[in-house]
Amino acid sequence: YDDRDGVIWMDGKLVDWRDANVHILTHAMHYASSVFEGERAYNGKIFESRRHSERLVASGRMLDIDIPWTIDEIEAAKYEVMKANGLTDAYVRAVAWRASGEDMGVSSAKNPVRLAIATWGWGNYYGDAKFKGAKLDISQWKRPSPETIPCHAKAAGLYMICTMSKHAAEAKGCSDAMMFDYRGYVAEATGANIFFVKDGEVHTPTPDCFLNGITRQTVIGMLRDRQIKVHERHIMPEELESFQQCWLTGTAAEVTPVGQIGDYNFEVGQMARDISTAYEDLVRA
Ligand code: PMP
Repeated sequence: YDDRDGVIWMDGKLVDWRDANVHILTHAMHYASSVFEGERAYNGKIFESRRHSERLVASGRMLDIDIPWTIDEIEAAKYEVMKANGLTDAYVRAVAWRASGEDMGVSSAKNPVRLAIATWGWGNYYGDAKFKGAKLDISQWKRPSPETIPCHAKAAGLYMICTMSKHAAEAKGCSDAMMFDYRGYVAEATGANIFFVKDGEVHTPTPDCFLNGITRQTVIGMLRDRQIKVHERHIMPEELESFQQCWLTGTAAEVTPVGQIGDYNFEVGQMARDISTAYEDLVRA
């Protein structure tokens, strides 16, 4: 991704894509002092743009990374970089991190905080799984407890277990992995939240140790508007076989039906398809 045409917003300036580099002694490279956002623009408008900018700043605060830009400035920067790249339908990636400082120790309190925003076209996150139903592996890694790490931050450090889970899943021919949490409850996928359907009602894990996704909240609202009951609760692994449908939600994933998790099978049913289409209509409205 580093050898492309285009520009990237870095610390207030647009720089050539190929020159958007950082030094190897960047604190974030060594100690994961980085937070980021993933957003999508449709027809020139970033869906829930402000909420994403607010979450970026909030994630930073949780990790002692005080982003030196206001929400309004971040909003303007996102649109500036999209426009400069001539994009209207795009993925937007904002990333804030601790730069290098006076020494290379664990503390980054004196290191500057930097911010960059890149944007590019990104199609379906799970390819044709969006229509056929994604195949998920079950991860050996557990989402950590809120006492271990600020688990509601969209923090780079939290993605190490996601990357390892995804590698293991891909090696088995799956497109993602479902993760349990530290207590053994169903949590989420490596970059998306999870929903299940049983007898016309929806069940989704309580987001008490993972990201309460903006897409997740949007979809819960859409279901409730349609008078569909949504139960946010702790879900045990034994319950997986009792669910008829399953889907994932996320900015990149949008609403993607799931056909299989480990040995459990789900139908790509009417509700999964309807909510996927309704979400597409909403983001483009
Ligand atoms: N969980 C994880 C681990 C994620 O990376 C994402 C994507 N940001 C989500 C859930 C979904 O969040 P959102 O709907 O806000 O994109």
